Amino acid sequence: MEFDLIESIRARSAIRREDVVLGIGDDAALLRTPPGHELAVALDTLLEGVHFPVGTAPGDIGYKALAVNLSDLAAMGATPAWALMSLSLPRADRGFVEQMLDGFMALAEPHRVALVGGDTVRGPLAISITVHGFVPEGQALRRSGARSGDAVFVTGTLGDAAAGLACLDRSREDADRLLSASVDSRRKLIARLNRPTPRIAAGQLLRGAASACIDVSDGLVADLGHVCAASGVGAEIDADALPLSSALLTLFDAQARDFALAGGDDYELCFTAPADRAGTILSDLSRSGCGATRIGRIVDGQGVVVHDASGKPVRSTSKGWDHFRS
Ligand code: ADP
Ligand code: MG
Repeated sequence: MEFDLIESIRARSAIRREDVVLGIGDDAALLRTPPGHELAVALDTLLEGVHFPVGTAPGDIGYKALAVNLSDLAAMGATPAWALMSLSLPRADRGFVEQMLDGFMALAEPHRVALVGGDTVRGPLAISITVHGFVPEGQALRRSGARSGDAVFVTGTLGDAAAGLACLDRSREDADRLLSASVDSRRKLIARLNRPTPRIAAGQLLRGAASACIDVSDGLVADLGHVCAASGVGAEIDADALPLSSALLTLFDAQARDFALAGGDDYELCFTAPADRAGTILSDLSRSGCGATRIGRIVDGQGVVVHDASGKPVRSTSKGWDHFRS
């Protein structure tokens, strides 16, 4: 790709870090890792029409591409440091790249993530980011540590991003109702879809406290299912305990629970911890500005089941999350 485009990327992504010996511009970046730490590395790709709707604003694409990657670091309890970006563009569109990078930087700046290199090619619109973070040796959060008797928690609220996607879906039977509904709720839900918040501070706080952790990218039941499989346990979710935002309840009363159980793209953290630590963990998290809710328990066995407050198993009202049951 044109030198101009890469120069524009370099100019717009300047974040100074002591541990970046050499950033964009040579054949490889030179980076210094802190002693006593492990490097946590993750890669996620966003493809137009698959991971974001056609017509998504370039700034939102840049923001979300970094957010989903930082969310993976959050789930490990890591502190982000560096990113690489692979950009596939149908044409060398400088305006697009600049707006996309503005979105990227809106999240890179507060987390002090330096863009240290990448690749730019011609092709269908797609953006891959590799993030690197640090975690003190032996302290990373894993999926495999959940034990029978642990409590299950989730940060923030669930189902908002799936509801945001539904708000943009003109083929839905209730598309007109959604368009004329509360503008404020619509806007909040769509923002949760386009600009998810990676729970970095919460992940760091959970080091040494949580027994297992995952970020909710595919849906709660599916992702908690991954924790169960990795840990060799089962889980019970209390459907009535699920944290639902008022925006979600305002627009999708009947479907809210399905969105919370099966909707992807929320990027909240789902974690487990010994039940007697619940109080401390919840108050530490809420003091850090990221509330969490206890939503269930780890049990012997396998797979995830969902109960209501009276203990009756909850069935999905639609195709919904049953499809994801593990
Ligand atoms: P090479 O052919 O040696 O890989 P490139 O022309 O692909 O060189 O890249 C030149 C420099 O620009 C490299 O330092 C590379 O890491 C950086 N770069 C290219 N594309 C991007 C991008 N999308 N984001 C960040 N850095 C990039
Ligand atoms: Mg290259």
